[in-house]
Amino acid sequence: MKLLEERIRKDGTVKAGNVLKVDSFLNHQMDIDLFNEMGKEWAHLFADCPITKILTVEASGIGIACVVAQHFHVPVVFAKKTQSLNIDGEVYSTKIQSFTHKKVYDVIVSKKFITPEDHILIIDDFLANGCALEGLLEIVGEAGATVEGIGIAVEKGFQKGGDLIRSKGIRLESLAIVESMDAETGEIVFR
Ligand code: 5GP
Repeated sequence: MKLLEERIRKDGTVKAGNVLKVDSFLNHQMDIDLFNEMGKEWAHLFADCPITKILTVEASGIGIACVVAQHFHVPVVFAKKTQSLNIDGEVYSTKIQSFTHKKVYDVIVSKKFITPEDHILIIDDFLANGCALEGLLEIVGEAGATVEGIGIAVEKGFQKGGDLIRSKGIRLESLAIVESMDAETGEIVFR
């Protein structure tokens, strides 16, 4: 998506450790007009899919998912980071290793909000090694629901997550795929 690539080129900064900082428009301050255009694009790409729910993970996926959901007219469910244990069996739970914080989080989704009848579109801001998506896929699997596809704003194509997800045969639509980026020169190359 040209609009997103241009914005990343204009306002994104490359940090050490393969981190692309886009906090002025994507995951801290948020450009809602841009999110709307992203929503239009995914609605077009997934037009043939009977999506009933959008699933994301807190925190940075929530803003994008909410704006995008206006183009699908379905609810948004977000996996919550939590410290409480699943003692009463009312939640689906999994662990997600955070790329940016190098920590492992327990995340949960209430069994009330994803059922076997659901057709899920997963939305997130970044795809790096694929840990966040694997966690979300596990939750959808536990629920017995169907994954229709995954929409990612920025895929870092030089990390392993994209190949991992595509090798499972899951439809992955990344709106910008970074082929390479250089923390010293600041250069960003898109696929
Ligand atoms: P993964 O689980 O695929 O390794 O990483 C995805 C998650 O890590 C995303 O939800 C995002 O929050 C965070 N993340 C990964 N790479 C980057 C990056 O380059 N920049 C930012 N801002 N977040 C990232």
